[in-house]
Amino acid sequence: MSRIIAVANQKGGVGKTTTAINLAACLAEKGKKVLTIDIDPQGNTTSGLGIDKTELEHTIYHLMLGESDIEECILENIFENLSLLPANVDLAGAEIELISVESREFLLKKYIEKIKDQYEYIIIDCPPSLSILTLNALTTANTVLVPIQCEFYALEGLTQLINTINLVKSRLNSNLELEGVVFTMYDARTNLSLQVVEEVKKNLHTNIYKTIIPRNVRLGEAPSHGLPINIYDSNSKGAESYRLLADEVIDR
Ligand code: ADP
Ligand code: MG
Repeated sequence: MSRIIAVANQKGGVGKTTTAINLAACLAEKGKKVLTIDIDPQGNTTSGLGIDKTELEHTIYHLMLGESDIEECILENIFENLSLLPANVDLAGAEIELISVESREFLLKKYIEKIKDQYEYIIIDCPPSLSILTLNALTTANTVLVPIQCEFYALEGLTQLINTINLVKSRLNSNLELEGVVFTMYDARTNLSLQVVEEVKKNLHTNIYKTIIPRNVRLGEAPSHGLPINIYDSNSKGAESYRLLADEVIDR
């Protein structure tokens, strides 16, 4: 059976894409069959895995509009054990184009249903919004993994996100669970990072991953080389921490 994890937080720049790419890549490195789904029009997961976004004819947009088959859209084994359902800016129009489509919250689920058993883990990288695209991710997923950036405004918007998850659970996907939160961009030199971790722990009664992702220059560089961190710099702190996160995800 596959486990489908949506990486979501409506705040931008908190480490969703970095987590989706590198968690997926570290699961794949451990021999798991993994599909990464990019459902963000920015297509950062797509380019971060070395795919030229502008060249794509079959993307998640074409899939959701019924213009391409899923087999045409998925780029199989772009790295060992790691496949990708890509996105690019075409997806930006989907919000409006889907307005009149029936059951538009379930489009992704409908297509993923057919192929999900070919993968052990499916990791969905969400856009920074609670839009129809994120809703499609949340109806497809079993769990939601929330990256929280260790900065002053970390808690802002978290209540809204958890309300949305609960709403989806009650109306659209009764199986949806909060996978947990993972702290990202932790800076051991500042008190602020530590304060944020303690504040969130105090306020949020949910699973919190023991692994904390540090701020690591190599993690920031890897996407411009089109490589996940475990391949770009296998011995970096970033690679080490995402491997530990993958272990925790496997153990859950
Ligand atoms: P989101 O998908 O939530 O918008 P990203 O994963 O794209 O966030 O991260 C935002 C920026 O921060 C990117 O430039 C990314 O490379 C960088 N970044 C993310 N996590 C780290 C980290 N742990 N250390 C250093 N830079 C990071
Ligand atoms: Mg992103």
